[in-house]
Amino acid sequence: MSTTMAITTSGLTKAYGQVQALRGVDLAVEQGQIFGFLGPNGAGKTTAIRCLLDLIRPQAGAIRVLGLDPQADPVAVRARVGYLPGELSLDTNYTAEQTLRYFNNLRGNQTDWNFVSRLAERLHLNLAVPIKNLSKGNKQKVGIVQALMSRPELLLLDEPTAGLDPLMQQEVYRLLKEARTDGATVFFSSHILSEVEAIADHIAIIRDGLIVEEAEPHQLVSMTLRRIRIRFQEAVNPAPLADIPGVLLLAQNELHATVHPTVHATVQVEGELDGLIKALAAYPVSDLETERPSLEEIFLAYYEGEKAIEEVQDVG
Ligand code: ATP
Repeated sequence: MSTTMAITTSGLTKAYGQVQALRGVDLAVEQGQIFGFLGPNGAGKTTAIRCLLDLIRPQAGAIRVLGLDPQADPVAVRARVGYLPGELSLDTNYTAEQTLRYFNNLRGNQTDWNFVSRLAERLHLNLAVPIKNLSKGNKQKVGIVQALMSRPELLLLDEPTAGLDPLMQQEVYRLLKEARTDGATVFFSSHILSEVEAIADHIAIIRDGLIVEEAEPHQLVSMTLRRIRIRFQEAVNPAPLADIPGVLLLAQNELHATVHPTVHATVQVEGELDGLIKALAAYPVSDLETERPSLEEIFLAYYEGEKAIEEVQDVG
């Protein structure tokens, strides 16, 4: 095989007492990829990332990071990896700059300080401020700069955009894409489907310690669910909306219909919005609010549904 792998795991298994955090995780991350590791809270993302750096030991499974076994050679692995932990603890009287210089010392003073200044500027991070005075989002930026500043071959980022406002999230995406252009591999975890879709070349979805789906982002478009709340200018019958393929009528205020006529409806749309939008042209619409359901809700809609169908088939 000509493709070099930046990360492989096979059969990665980790339990904390009774809690099975990883139940045989197989991952294959190609060099030069942005790999999105997607999963709801508690799925096992942090546990898997920590195993890659030998910060915790799995009970079973094989791991290779940049061709090395992190359990045999953790120092060599960590020297080549930029790591952003999920829970960054930087509570100190040091300024952001002093903190970054400290990390740079640990890494053998290899960092180009102009690059650090540019990263800080782009993230609107004032390096002169003591860490203890920084907001949560600004502390996160210190962690991001710390991970990127040595231009490592591999970035392992545990929820890199957590706590950042949307503009800063976009800037982080740009930085990750630039790191890829410079030849780095990026492995990042998230629980937000849209974020992973936006920048990842490849996605693995973990749930309850197992990889349940692996795909290129465009293959996940069929998993796009939206919830849309429609407010009408006057009483209408929204029932025909449920006849549009992919549209489900979740709620309408039809209770006491004679007193409070139907003036709003909530629908769930799977895939493209075109059918719904065209149908709504016939209605007196005063407002539309759309929201993406959480990953867990998407799992419920897809996987629980599939499981239920399989169970019915098994019984039948
Ligand atoms: P989140 O998105 O919420 O950060 P995650 O996908 O990173 O979640 P993990 O933090 O890896 O998930 O947790 C996986 C499971 O292992 C969860 O059930 C969690 O409660 C459990 N767990 C994690 N760390 C420990 C620990 N030190 N002791 C006991 N259980 C733990």
